[in-house]
Amino acid sequence: MRIILLGPPGAGKGTQAVRLVERWSIPHISTGDILRANVREGTTLGTEAKRFMDAGELVPDEVIIGMVGDRLGEPDTAAGFLFDGFPRTVPQAKALETLVNELDTPIDVVLRLVVDHADVAERLTGRRTCSDCGRIFHVLTDPPSAEGRCDDCDGEIVQRDDDREEVVLNRLEVHRTQTAPLEHFYFERGLLRDISAVGTVDEVTQRAVEVLAEYDRSGGDAA
Ligand code: AMP
Repeated sequence: MRIILLGPPGAGKGTQAVRLVERWSIPHISTGDILRANVREGTTLGTEAKRFMDAGELVPDEVIIGMVGDRLGEPDTAAGFLFDGFPRTVPQAKALETLVNELDTPIDVVLRLVVDHADVAERLTGRRTCSDCGRIFHVLTDPPSAEGRCDDCDGEIVQRDDDREEVVLNRLEVHRTQTAPLEHFYFERGLLRDISAVGTVDEVTQRAVEVLAEYDRSGGDAA
């Protein structure tokens, strides 16, 4: 299965992605996670990307497209993949289309998580992330059992720099102006499917699984 998750920041793409890739045994390709790993490791790419990320702006397309091209060259993508946070602009979507056409691995479905911008602002500013494994918590709706420590790996739970309120508002605006046009791009190609991202994490997963199962040709455990 080759899946793209769309939706504004805070729609729950990361949370759902983890569950869906487990179910379909495919790699989770989050360009945000790859960038954050580069920032942590202090690579040239990370240093270049950080100033855009801290401001809630998009990292330039050529950087992202190169990064994704490299990732799709890794052998685990033969099983399929799920993109989370990519593509984010029409040029990225066009570059991906060229890439998957060359590899003869077309995208099966683009799943859009639909939620109000007002709701996502609250989700994002309350979001906390494990600095080791990336697990996502929320101060109100999904707090960790032990204050400040991850339930899974005991790593330190932090607020992402770009989840601060002033940056969140810019990220939402960037989504509206630069990423929302992708919905039309994929609608025209007959790939876009919508689900509501309102409700519990389990409810949203259930909706996602129902839609994705329609596209599953692997006969795997997704039925
Ligand atoms: P995310 O974790 O997907 O919310 O991404 C965090 C930040 O990384 C974004 O606000 C951007 O600065 C950058 N980023 C992640 N993915 C992309 C992308 N596909 N294109 C441009 N910038 C990206």
